[in-house]
Parts: sequence; structure tokens; C-alpha cells
Amino acid sequence: MTMPTKPKGLLIVVTGPSAVGKGTICRALLAETPGIRFSVSCTTRPMRPGEVNGVEYYFISKEEFERRIEAGEFLEWAEVYGNYYGTPRAYVEEVTARGEDVILDIDRVGARAVREHYPDAVSVFVIPPSMEALRQRITARGTETPEAVARRLAEAPEWIREGLTYDYVIVNDDLARAVAELRAIIVAEKARTARNGAALIERLLEKGVLTDE
Ligand code: 5GP
Repeated sequence: MTMPTKPKGLLIVVTGPSAVGKGTICRALLAETPGIRFSVSCTTRPMRPGEVNGVEYYFISKEEFERRIEAGEFLEWAEVYGNYYGTPRAYVEEVTARGEDVILDIDRVGARAVREHYPDAVSVFVIPPSMEALRQRITARGTETPEAVARRLAEAPEWIREGLTYDYVIVNDDLARAVAELRAIIVAEKARTARNGAALIERLLEKGVLTDE
């Protein structure tokens, strides 16, 4: 069935404490779900081994980042652990306008800004099964200095409390289950009366049919 007017795509914000594995959940979902895009952020942090410019991030200089802030090119941006991170506005607007969903894996400051400016955004908070699991993940990554690891650990409880204000909470203890939950959230959000359902009901009552004749 083809719908007459394609509704705008969802803006899905996925966040959670550092190293909780939200990036892995997002990537797994994207790999198996057509019609969902990932918003590749810009950052000024150095590339980690194995990262590719334009895949995990667009790696740009501090000067270039500041120029883009001035030019209003970011939908949101934040300083996270001493580096800038920002979501390119044009991509997100383009994707949602053509009816595709877009996922943002961003920190809590950015997430707050997005939720403020886009009340329709769906916010998902990822938590670890235990504080110990989180500690292990932060330490095991091995890409951070000891000071950075300590800072991320110290901030974790405050970070996690922020989840109380999100639409959904997912526990990342089993990747497949976490991905299934994220997918279910997206499916349910699309069926919400206030989002798409009301327009369908109005059309059905007016035209007698939902498809284009
Ligand atoms: P990492 O350097 O480990 O890839 O990411 C550090 C943190 O920055 C993560 O919590 C990640 O979600 C966040 N982050 C990545 N991209 C963006 C962005 O565009 N905006 C904001 N506000 N945070 C981001």
C-alpha cells in the first residue's frame, strides 16, 4: 500500500553514559534496517585507530568547527571531554524531509538541545546492566588517558540520572535484545495517533480510502 503523503521521518536521539555501547546498538540497527540513516557528526577530537573520516565522524579542525558554529551549520553542538562535537543540520533536515528516519548518537548536552528545539524528537537513553560493567567498558576501550577514564567514571552517576527525563530507557546487557527494543520503539512511535495516525483517520473519513487512486 502506498500512502498518499509520506510523513516526515523520525528524529531519534540515542544517548547514555560514555562507553555504554550506544554506538554499537545504533550501528547494529542500521545494518539491518532500511530507511534509517545515521547522522555522522563533526568532531575536533583526534581519530582513533581504525576510524575512517566520514564514517564514524567528520574529523575537522577547531577553527573549522568554530566557523561552522558561526555559520549556524550545526543542529546542536557541545564540548565533550575537551573536544567539540556537532550534528550537521542540513543532513538531518534533508533526511527527515524525505520521510526517512535519522538516528543521532550524541551526548546529554546535545540531546537536551535537540529535545528543546525538536519536541517531536524521540529520546532514548541507554544504561549499562551494572556500574561495574560500565567501569569495565570505559577501561577496556584503551583509547583514553587514565585521566580521561577517571573523569568519565566520575561523571557516570550524574549522567545516568539524566535518563529520568527521556522517553525510553534501554538496558545494554544483550546487544540483540537492545537492538530489538530500539526497533520496537521506532515502530511504535510511527504508529502514534498524534504523529501519523490522526492524518490517516482524517484521510480515510474524507476520501474513503488511504491509498492514491
Ligand atoms: P567518542 O569521542 O567516544 O566517539 O564520543 C564521546 C561522546 O560524544 C559520546 O557520548 C557521543 O555520543 C558524543 N557525541 C558524538 N557526536 C556528537 C554530536 O554531534 N553532538 C554531541 N552533542 N555529542 C556527540
